[in-house]
Amino acid sequence: MLDRFKREIYYLRISVIDRCNLRCTYCMPPEGIKLKEHKDILSFEEIEEVVKSAVKLGFYKFRLTGGEPLIRKGIIDLVKRLAKIDGVKTLSMTTNGTLLSQYAEELKKAGLSRLNISLDSLNEKRYSEITRGGNLLDALSGIKAAKDAGFENTKLNVVLVDGFNVDEKGKIKLFADKNKLKVRFIKKMDLKSGDYYGVEGGEGGNCSICNRLRLTADGKIKSCLFSDLEFDIRKEGIENAIVKAIENKPEKGYKSLKREMIQIGG
Ligand code: SAM
Ligand code: SF4
Repeated sequence: MLDRFKREIYYLRISVIDRCNLRCTYCMPPEGIKLKEHKDILSFEEIEEVVKSAVKLGFYKFRLTGGEPLIRKGIIDLVKRLAKIDGVKTLSMTTNGTLLSQYAEELKKAGLSRLNISLDSLNEKRYSEITRGGNLLDALSGIKAAKDAGFENTKLNVVLVDGFNVDEKGKIKLFADKNKLKVRFIKKMDLKSGDYYGVEGGEGGNCSICNRLRLTADGKIKSCLFSDLEFDIRKEGIENAIVKAIENKPEKGYKSLKREMIQIGG
């Protein structure tokens, strides 16, 4: 479906959970966030219905994100259910990779198309610092597991933080080349002040070619990452919420004051 600015909107990013096993400094505040109650989080049936309605409206590209999607109980089952919906051309996932050694093979079998794995540093101390306690070795084993499971075109998402890891760009690029990964360097964005940038190696952050909507784990369709506009699928009905989100999609991002990145899914 075309929006007011003649952009074809066909990509839905689905956040399946507002929790995470890491606490990256650029994604959530130090004190954490107020977690949604279980009843507020969409069930698998609801997510399936959203994908079916989106397909009817012309969507064909879908991505699961979070929080950390791999900590949602039953995630493999969800992937299976979504991957087999007629009209879903690609179903990918963005993950911090720390649980991939456990899940990569099952995800592949369940029909997941591709993976984006987040990795901001190859230095153990820095990795632990930026993720507030994460273990680099877990992420590295996850990357290997993804390759062993047969995932191709895996992308590495690297958030560049000034004065912290920018000096590692070259090293990360070499690591990526060696492991047949494509790197996407993402300059750290700030939802509250409205600082966003184009993604090096990706298409995000470029408003004139934006093709996406977002579904939050608590059932709101967001028109734009940098806007507080959202439409509640439970209150408005799924199809209506998606159509309204497209019709009201702003030409450009501004600010998002209501939610942290972890509550949107990046
Ligand atoms: N937990 C998963 C992960 O880390 O890949 C998925 C959710 S995370 C919110 C999705 C993506 O958003 C990650 O690649 C993460 O690096 C990115 N992200 C989070 N906060 C960001 C920020 N302030 N600026 C730019 N990218 C950000
Ligand atoms: Fe968790 Fe991903 Fe946010 Fe890091 S970027 S805190 S791994 S959701």
